[in-house]
Amino acid sequence: MSAKTVAIIGSGPAGFTAAIYAARAMLRTIIFEGNQPGGQLMITTEVENYPGFEDGILGPELMEKFRKQAHRFGAESIYEYITEVDFSRRPFILRAGNKEYTADAVIIATGASAKLLGVPGEQEYMGYGVSTCATCDGFFFRDQDVIVVGGGDSAMEEALYLTHHARSVTIVHRRDQFRASKIMLKRAQENPKIQFILNTIVTEFLGESSDGVKKLKAVRLRNVQTGEEWIKEIDGVFIAIGHKPNTEIFRPWLEMDDQGYILTRGKTTYTNIPGVFAAGDVQDPRYRQAVTAAGSGCMAAIDASRWLEEADFEASSETAADQQTQSVSS
Ligand code: NAP
Repeated sequence: MSAKTVAIIGSGPAGFTAAIYAARAMLRTIIFEGNQPGGQLMITTEVENYPGFEDGILGPELMEKFRKQAHRFGAESIYEYITEVDFSRRPFILRAGNKEYTADAVIIATGASAKLLGVPGEQEYMGYGVSTCATCDGFFFRDQDVIVVGGGDSAMEEALYLTHHARSVTIVHRRDQFRASKIMLKRAQENPKIQFILNTIVTEFLGESSDGVKKLKAVRLRNVQTGEEWIKEIDGVFIAIGHKPNTEIFRPWLEMDDQGYILTRGKTTYTNIPGVFAAGDVQDPRYRQAVTAAGSGCMAAIDASRWLEEADFEASSETAADQQTQSVSS
């Protein structure tokens, strides 16, 4: 019997870990790397909390190691962005523009994207003072002054986390009402290191570049009620205005929560469609760490591999039953 094909959509830690495990389980393993091969870590600088790298490692370098490890066991990368799927029949169909691929099982590891403000300088200083992850980058702002943008639980959580490193944390929020839960807001309000600037938005990130090294220096703020504008010097800005899971193309097929995260069954990576699994940030609004994504990628490959074995077993039992029926009826 020819090897079954597992298609993995997405090439972050979840996708590549799934690929390592699937390829080692002797499944034909295809990774669709998408528009940002390597995922979110490609826009991170130093990663210090991924176990096994005692001196830290650059995000892009870490992802290259993941890729090489997956390829070593025969997984194959296809540098295409999947634009449409058809999960109504097996093998499943995946389309990238006008190209069509089939797979016996699919692992979705398309991740989530941090929402950004979309103002001048934001992209330019991303990784050079601007961050979307306090757990990843907070450590680099030891005894410095930072801003957290947002008024939800993420903003409160990021701000509280940052107080362990930074000298001061200022939450800049566009309203004077908060989406954050009362308890998280209270914790932030009671923390002496945290201040609030309300009814205010960041309109520009300002910095400088010396010897080719960029560094954020300040932000331009605007009070949305008075229109007053001013520049605030700052060492770091953490944008915590929510994440958006990359699940648009799966909407017609898969059960999701109200934010669009794919729902998985119990402690598994099973979705509502047998043979389709979800791993990493695409199904995890809570932890969102490279190491937790990698862990769930491993789970998805094990789930897919076992599901394929069971599907094979059922197919061969059906064939045996058919043969018996035929021999009875002939
Ligand atoms: P969220 O609840 O949607 O809050 C996003 C915040 O960002 C809001 O205050 C929003 O302002 C602000 N915002 C959105 N777009 C903005 C923009 N363009 N410019 C400036 N501000 C903007 O998102 P979240 O905080 O990431 O939380 C998502 C979910 O995860 C929630 O259900 C939350 O409870 C949960 N969560 C829970 C925990 C926890 O319990 N420990 C931790 C993190 C997240 P407005 O209020 O004006 O819209």
